[in-house]
Amino acid sequence: MSIEVLPNHVIDKIAAGEVVERPSSVVKELLENALDAGARSITVEVKGGGQRLIRMSDDGHGIRMDEVPLAFARHATSKLRQVEDLETIQTLGFRGEALASIAAVSRINMITRHIEEASGLQIRIEGGDLISKKPIGAASGTVLTVENLFYNTPARLKFLKAEETEKRLIANAVMRAAMASPHVRFTLIQDDREVFRSPGSGQLADVLVKAFGLDTFRQMIQVSAEEELREVEGAIRIQGFVSDPGLSRKDRSRITLFINGRPIQDSGLTYAVTQAYHTLLMKGRHPLAVLMIDVPPAFVDVNVHPTKAEVRFQDSNAVFVAVQKTVREGIVQHIQARPMRTGSNYVERSPQLPMPSWTSNSRSNGRPTPVRPTHTQQDFDWEMEGPGQYPQQMAPETAEAPSIIPKDETDFSHIPDVGRPAKPRTLPMLRVVGQIGASYIVAEGPAGLYLIDQHAAHERVMYEQFMEEYRKKGVVSQRTLDSQTIDLAPDDVHLLNENQAALTRLGFQIEPFGANTFLIRAVPAMLTNQDPIEAVSGILEDLADQRAPGQDTIEAKIVKQVCKRASVKAGQILSQADMQGIIRQLERCESPHTCPHGRPTLLHISGDQLAKEFGRLGAN
Ligand code: ADP
Ligand code: MG
Repeated sequence: MSIEVLPNHVIDKIAAGEVVERPSSVVKELLENALDAGARSITVEVKGGGQRLIRMSDDGHGIRMDEVPLAFARHATSKLRQVEDLETIQTLGFRGEALASIAAVSRINMITRHIEEASGLQIRIEGGDLISKKPIGAASGTVLTVENLFYNTPARLKFLKAEETEKRLIANAVMRAAMASPHVRFTLIQDDREVFRSPGSGQLADVLVKAFGLDTFRQMIQVSAEEELREVEGAIRIQGFVSDPGLSRKDRSRITLFINGRPIQDSGLTYAVTQAYHTLLMKGRHPLAVLMIDVPPAFVDVNVHPTKAEVRFQDSNAVFVAVQKTVREGIVQHIQARPMRTGSNYVERSPQLPMPSWTSNSRSNGRPTPVRPTHTQQDFDWEMEGPGQYPQQMAPETAEAPSIIPKDETDFSHIPDVGRPAKPRTLPMLRVVGQIGASYIVAEGPAGLYLIDQHAAHERVMYEQFMEEYRKKGVVSQRTLDSQTIDLAPDDVHLLNENQAALTRLGFQIEPFGANTFLIRAVPAMLTNQDPIEAVSGILEDLADQRAPGQDTIEAKIVKQVCKRASVKAGQILSQADMQGIIRQLERCESPHTCPHGRPTLLHISGDQLAKEFGRLGAN
């Protein structure tokens, strides 16, 4: 091919890809325009995840009739005249690219009336071509409708994520805009359902209650600080809310940062927030945060990214330190201010947990059929000096709940096997000796000593049991006792809707109950004794975690979360019978050596190894 300059409509389509990557980027750009126009009330209507329709209605100043076609021209803007203006830019937009880009890849219908003009104008544009333009009566402000997004760029269309994902991203874009502009009323309607509304009260707190739900917001700490800058005149001002260390998430998706009213992505500053929680959160957990960071405009370059999602600071370290310090001080003050007892929030494990229901089930359901161990007495090469010399570390309750195993028992054949006899044995029969650290079960088997992680082992048992039920299409569901309602953030609402089918298949029954509220009617029977709200929140958190996409199916994520919740925890004191119950079932698991997350369930030290360690090998 010879070299030729591309025609404008081709250039526009190629360039459009930079600014409008997906429906939520269109929403973000249109929100910015409405805010720049001084709107006090903005309504976003979306259909089909934004691909079918996005309509943005604002009561801003509108566009002058004779300037309307210009608004859709590339690099046409009313917000900037010369490069120097960028240093003091106050508006969200300035590149003059959004409307041109959106118009190039969709069908647009805009009605706008400038606040100082008597009549409005309606304009229709398809794939960048002007279709019609006519005066029309309208209230001052702008209503811009974008339909059939990417209809003429099939490649882009193909790469769009599931509709629910796009909906979630759109909800996020609207929530972020609402956080940055609490004085503006925002309404988001997706597929004719109102999913978010902010009151426009001017208070960030009011927006966060709507965005996170009241329960979550109650666990947020308000922070605020100001640091003088050395390089330029002015200060870094930080205001917002961060989570109490008792509230955390698996991912960083709830850390939202704004620079001068602009939501930005900055892994460094996100890290600064996480760092502030050092030693207060468990490894792999992340806080929630919404921080408004304001710096002098000259201190920051906002023009480093086509979607303005990243910024560059004159001194990024100063901002990092300010953020980290503000958050840390906020948490520390909060912790010191509250009564001592609530400090136990940080301890996730509680030794006083009630006993799980399975213990009684497994004993009453299972017929105690004595099963001969696969290893005979002769294989038992672990020399014992007599049972009395092995002190049994028993849980306190075991005093009342007598052990089902006689103390001087070394013949395994008497131990009742409550496992499922139909399944082949994958571990030798083990005898529980006791529990240590309220976390590990000590057991002996024909080939030596076994240390079993009670949580991991029980998780494995639960997992296989659940998968078996699932394969037989018989996940047993249990109705929740009283009405259990859960308040969700709009993006979690989408996540829930997106995965409704899988949740139902797995024994959950969750129904809409008001705008962002859901009623949990039933949960898998395994979760009968667990808090259904916590279980559903945990599942949503796992589902939102995109760090390892494709690694687990949706079902697997849900099942693992259910089993994790249903399992005995580390720190829980178990009776001898409880421990024996877990071990009996573990012995017949398909993969008894690892938990569903791949961590080991047991350590085995052979009789030989022990003898060697004690220098007894070969000795008499
Ligand atoms: P930018 O926002 O970077 O200037 P856009 O392509 O988004 O570029 O918009 C072009 C111009 O159209 C803006 O500069 C503004 O003057 C006008 N405009 C766009 N949307 C609106 C709106 N909702 N209300 C008033 N003016 C608008
Ligand atoms: Mg714009």
